[in-house]
Amino acid sequence: MENKNNIHPVFDRILQRADKEKMLHQKAVVIWFTGLSGSGKTTIAIGVEKELNKLGVLTQILDGDNVRTGINNNLGFSEEDRTENIRRIAEVSKLFLNCGIVTINCFVSPTIEIRENAKEIIGENDFLEVYINTPFEVCEQRDVKGLYKKARAGEIKNFTGLDAPFEAPLTPFLEIHTKNQTIEESVEEVLNKVLPIIQNK
Ligand code: ADP
Repeated sequence: MENKNNIHPVFDRILQRADKEKMLHQKAVVIWFTGLSGSGKTTIAIGVEKELNKLGVLTQILDGDNVRTGINNNLGFSEEDRTENIRRIAEVSKLFLNCGIVTINCFVSPTIEIRENAKEIIGENDFLEVYINTPFEVCEQRDVKGLYKKARAGEIKNFTGLDAPFEAPLTPFLEIHTKNQTIEESVEEVLNKVLPIIQNK
C-alpha cells in the first residue's frame, strides 16, 4: 500500500500560475459548456478557440473525443464512472489552468451535482459555466451523430433529454440560445463575455 507520507509537495518550488499567465499575457479560466447532445457545445467551442487563437490566446479544448479515448478510456457510463469521468476532466482542467491556459470544456454534464463537483475541483472563480440552451426537438432534428435516432430505437439507454434528465443551470455565467441564431452570433456572445476576463492581464 502506498504511503501518502511519501508524497513530497513541490508546489512551493515550481513556477506559479501567475508567472505563466504573465508570460502568456492572458488570464486562465475554464469555460465549461453544458447542454444536450447536439446543442452546439463543440461547434461553438471550435469557433471561440479560433477567434482566441487569432488574438494570441493559448487555449485547449477538452471534449468526449480526446478524453474518453485517452485518459478516461477505462470508464463507461455507469453512475460511478460518470462521476469519475467528470472528476478527472476537472483535475486535468486544473492542470491546464495552472499552466495559464484557457480551457474550453464540452461535456453534456447533465446534472447540477456533476457540475458542482467540477466547480469545486476547479475553483469557483475560474469556472465559467456556459449553458448552451437548445430545445430537445432542435437537437433531435440536427441529430449530428445519429444518437437521437439510436436512442429512439432503444439502442442507447439513459440518453440525456429522453430517458435521463438534463438539469439546466440555475445561475450560469452565460446562457446561449442557439435555436434562432447563427454559429457566428453564438461565438460572439461567448467572446464578449469571456474576453474582458481573459485579457485582464
Ligand atoms: P454538441 O457538441 O453539443 O454535441 P455539436 O456542436 O456537435 O453539438 O453540434 C451542433 C450542431 O448544431 C452543428 O451541426 C451546428 O452546425 C448546428 N448549429 C446550428 N446553429 C448553431 C448555433 N447557433 N450554435 C452552434 N451550433 C449550431
